[in-house]
Amino acid sequence: MLGFEDLEDFRKNIRFFCEKELKPLASFYDMWEKFPEDSYRKIAEKGILSLGIPEEYGGTGDFFRELVATEEIARVDQNLSIQMEIKSLFENTLIIHGNDRQKEILRDLARGSIIPAFAFTEPSGGTDVLGLKTEARKENGRYVINGMKMFITNAPIATHLIVFARTGERISAFLAKKEGKGIRIGPRIKTTGTRGALISSIRFENMELDEDSLIGIEGNGLKVFFDVMDRSRLVLSAGALGMMRRLYEESMRFSTERKSGNRQIYDYQYIQDHLVSMAMDIEISSLLIYNAALLLKNGKQSSMESAMAKLYSSEALKRNAIRAAEIMGGYGYISGTPVDMIYRDAHATSLGLGSSEAMKITIFNYLKKFSGKGSI
Ligand SMILES: Cc1cc2nc3c(=O)[nH]c(=O)nc-3n(C[C@H](O)[C@H](O)[C@H](O)COP(=O)(O)OP(=O)(O)OC[C@H]3O[C@@H](n4cnc5c(N)ncnc54)[C@H](O)[C@@H]3O)c2cc1C
Repeated sequence: MLGFEDLEDFRKNIRFFCEKELKPLASFYDMWEKFPEDSYRKIAEKGILSLGIPEEYGGTGDFFRELVATEEIARVDQNLSIQMEIKSLFENTLIIHGNDRQKEILRDLARGSIIPAFAFTEPSGGTDVLGLKTEARKENGRYVINGMKMFITNAPIATHLIVFARTGERISAFLAKKEGKGIRIGPRIKTTGTRGALISSIRFENMELDEDSLIGIEGNGLKVFFDVMDRSRLVLSAGALGMMRRLYEESMRFSTERKSGNRQIYDYQYIQDHLVSMAMDIEISSLLIYNAALLLKNGKQSSMESAMAKLYSSEALKRNAIRAAEIMGGYGYISGTPVDMIYRDAHATSLGLGSSEAMKITIFNYLKKFSGKGSI
């Protein structure tokens, strides 16, 4: 990428590591539906978990490198790239709105010694953020949490949670340790793809939290949520981009090697059309993601651009998974192959951190705001 030469050196280094250390394990975690424990430890040792965390809390504070590393991880192991997303949600909540004591946990996150979870969605729906029902009632200087969360990645293994709950009319965010009384983890929810992600519901029954578990100001939870989304949607998009790169590479390799009618199949225009479309989706997604990241780095408003990057890259990933599977004929339908795994995993990228419809709502709200004011 022009202007990002140092990032490309970083990418080479991370790609070498991912190929050697992570790729051989990826299909094992998918097949056995296990949390990628060894790979998580390896990326912690390599310093990848610390990339988005500020230096004063044991990190390197380099968001661009975090995005590149996520791309490279997703290129070989989608289950692990989900961990980059969850970590991003957790770390950015604390970086942007946490107090000094809460931020100390970032050191453990950077070392990989805690497992985070981010609990927003409820059984009644994730898109209607204002409809949140979990309650945090204040009693004798403590918050008492009651309610239920749904589809929470890492719920069975997490050590710490960010929990969103209603404090009166408004919503607030809390940092909680997943221990003690008042918290019940539901049975594992088996999903179509992302089989190495452990997902469950969580029920809170009079779970008590200290007053200083509150993140930021009481009633400011939706601001916390949307501030975090601007960054973490880009981490998710980088994961989608990494998977698209893999689909393209697998498709190009296959169509070079595979012959039909004595010709390599990439001599056929229909295959070329697929490959060109895939390459363009990669370029467009990359431009959208790193443009939004640049806006964030320069302290500019980037909510619309982050939503665009997420909408485009996740939808592009789904159509490219179909393209890759078609190019590979029957070989694209063999269980446990990279194309098969990405085909199953792709849909999760257009659900997590807001559905594609939710992205369109966000984008249109900004278009309305900018209308007649010179931008777009
Ligand atoms: C693999 C996986 C992991 C996840 N991990 C987490 C996690 O760690 N933490 C967490 O909090 N959540 C998590 N989620 C939940 C995810 O964020 C939600 O699934 C998503 O936000 C959609 O919410 P929902 O499933 O309740 O669907 P709903 O909100 O009920 O929506 C159903 C459909 O209606 C559409 N819709 C709803 N409202 C509108 C509207 N106003 N306008 C137009 N269309 C609308 C939606 O786009 C969708 O198509 C995860 C989900 C999956 C699949």
